[in-house]
Amino acid sequence: MADCIFCKIAKREIPSDVVYEDESTLAFLDISPASLGHTLVIPKAHAETLEKLNEKDLKSLIITVQKISKAISKISEGYNVLQNNKEVAGQIVHHAHFHIIPRKHGDGIHFNRPNPKFSEKETRQIIERIKTLLK
Ligand code: 5GP
Ligand code: ZN
Repeated sequence: MADCIFCKIAKREIPSDVVYEDESTLAFLDISPASLGHTLVIPKAHAETLEKLNEKDLKSLIITVQKISKAISKISEGYNVLQNNKEVAGQIVHHAHFHIIPRKHGDGIHFNRPNPKFSEKETRQIIERIKTLLK
């Protein structure tokens, strides 16, 4: 897509610190890393969000995510894999991507917070809605 920054990175029209590349995926360092080695993995073909990826690109993408995770697991105490979809969920760049964030104890990164409670009725309703949409 013409105005997409990650498409431009995939086509090498703008520079990035690439750590891995294959036919359909690219992994490069985040320009504003949450920790040293914070890596982004993208499909080379544009898709805005996870659910819009075709199956072939999705499979290649998750295989690359695991490949990068294997390397990062050797240079960290643990790691987070994050994937944001739509602005409400924190997506800034509208080209699907996974974050792989190396972690170490005491690094000060926090994702956990108290979760709201839902009624039994609300829970049953959402189960039915999701199941219906999956049919
Ligand atoms: P999102 O919030 O969309 O899941 O994450 C987008 C990520 O892309 C952010 O962590 C941001 O720092 C990173 N980013 C945005 N623009 C660029 C860029 O031009 N180059 C690189 N390497 N990372 C970028
Ligand atoms: Zn794109």
